[in-house]
Amino acid sequence: MSNKPIKIEDYYEQATFNRIKALADTKETPFVVIDTATVDRQYDTLVGYFPYASVYYAVKANPAVQILTLLRDKGANFDIASIYELEKVLSLGVSPDRCSYGNTIKKSRDIRTFYEKGVRLFATDSEADLRNIAKAAPGSRIYVRILTEGTQTADWPLSRKFGCQNDMAIDLLILARDLGLIPYGVSFHVGSQQRDIGAWDAAIGKVKNIFERLQLEDNIELKMINLGGGFPANYLTKTNELSDYAEEITRFIREDFGDDFPEIILEPGRSLISNAGILVSEIVLISRKSHKSLHRWIYTDVGKFSGLIETLDESIKYPIYTGKHGELEEAVIAGPTCDSADIMYENYMYGLPLNLAIGDRLYWLSTGAYTTTYSAVEFNGFPPLKDYYV
Ligand SMILES: *Cc1c(COP(=O)(O)O)cnc(C)c1O
Repeated sequence: MSNKPIKIEDYYEQATFNRIKALADTKETPFVVIDTATVDRQYDTLVGYFPYASVYYAVKANPAVQILTLLRDKGANFDIASIYELEKVLSLGVSPDRCSYGNTIKKSRDIRTFYEKGVRLFATDSEADLRNIAKAAPGSRIYVRILTEGTQTADWPLSRKFGCQNDMAIDLLILARDLGLIPYGVSFHVGSQQRDIGAWDAAIGKVKNIFERLQLEDNIELKMINLGGGFPANYLTKTNELSDYAEEITRFIREDFGDDFPEIILEPGRSLISNAGILVSEIVLISRKSHKSLHRWIYTDVGKFSGLIETLDESIKYPIYTGKHGELEEAVIAGPTCDSADIMYENYMYGLPLNLAIGDRLYWLSTGAYTTTYSAVEFNGFPPLKDYYV
């Protein structure tokens, strides 16, 4: 059980929390409040640590107009996964040369739409997709996504489903050239909330191998490495600081590529947005399953189907702040719907104040990313999670 009460100052500047709380106090739960100034600062911090890289924001992390326009104005590029995300980003006046189609799973007609709108940078990891790109988006720049290890140390792995082995990546980049495309680079994603910085070392080593073999054997000069996302947000499970990630990753690139870096792309999602948000819920019911039970069940008005899907397998452990003090006791925490999968934490028991009461609010910290859009439309009639921006 986590026995220590959460301290706000470990996660937010007091002024930021006050700003969020002031708005939260006027709204009915459940909802997320996102502090855009924090996103602004996180972006600057990231760019400061990786001055040589260009940032492609992973739109899926939080596609709110408030965030997209902020990042647009700060000069970010956008990693886009569907025609719907594309439409939204372009409608905000972002030019298509700031967009990549980063999803390796796509319909031919959607590739065509991206191409017609002006996008010329495409990810792939398979021959069938590559051939579709060659037909629907002729002459475009291609980067191939490779498989990476490190799924054990990523809290939300993104690996098995995407990417291909190195040998196949090489063949695809050669085929890209033969199909009239531009073999441009290699990408990977070491897994979201990756706690082992060494995962980048292994992946960059694989990329180096691809660069060298293509240069030597086929005279193809790749230009770009896409280091993906995976940078950390602040949850209960500790990680290194972003500055440690930057220092180490920069060293890994230098060790493999020398001082003359290829073009480097980052695709942050979680690390930019999570800590800007707080999800606020209300306790609906507190009960025990037997008279002598040593722990409570705490049911809140937000759950797996209303934004907290990343608690699946208890993968992401959000810090939960109650504002109450006093003795703690273990609790199972569950959502409001009639589905028994709607339990957020049961194996990992949170210690929550004994004096919590029905109607009290829970503040789920670091919930700015991967919450609003994961929320179901109408399960049990509950509306999607609301979001507000300060
Ligand atoms: C989701 C995703 C990201 C963002 O990853 P984070 O770990 O949230 O930073 C980056 N790139 C691709 C291709 C993605 O699918």
